[in-house]
Amino acid sequence: MHFHWSVDDFTGCEHVLDGHGLSDIVKRYAAECHLVHYNSKYQSLEAAVAHSDGLAVVGFLLEVVDAPNPSFDEFVEGLEKIKKSEQGVEISSESLAWMDREELSSGNYVTYKGSLTTPPYTECVTWIIYEKPVQIGAEQLGLLRQLEGPDCIPIERNVRPTQRHPPGHSVIYVKQVKAKL
Ligand SMILES: [Zn+2]
Repeated sequence: MHFHWSVDDFTGCEHVLDGHGLSDIVKRYAAECHLVHYNSKYQSLEAAVAHSDGLAVVGFLLEVVDAPNPSFDEFVEGLEKIKKSEQGVEISSESLAWMDREELSSGNYVTYKGSLTTPPYTECVTWIIYEKPVQIGAEQLGLLRQLEGPDCIPIERNVRPTQRHPPGHSVIYVKQVKAKL
């Protein structure tokens, strides 16, 4: 799992969502979380990236709001302990509580075949991007922006600019029908 962000609250995502032809509003958010999985028929992540069915990356878009989101508390406490590049901290699985389980099982998402967003940009990823953004408090997100790179300078931006989707490639919008009880 890793995050991408930027200097402001609207250019930190590698994916933007339009209105699926229903609206002209393009949604841009502050940060994006990627959960990187590789196909178990390959021996390792490194081996999997050489194949078009190598990786599946689940993405969550993070929307900044004023109030802190309590489900990020433990994650944020971990972030506060990291002062330098390469430093690590152990956090419990509870710190992933911000990934809403109900949303994971029944939320709408967009999927397409695409590439890594870092060099060498290999076309090896099935992307799954959840439509509903996860809310994060402005101060909580600020802790990500304070993390330092190897040059001891805070990482202001680690996001690839959005790319045009190549013609002929499908982007599939999956709308889940919620059962009425
Ligand atoms: Zn990423």
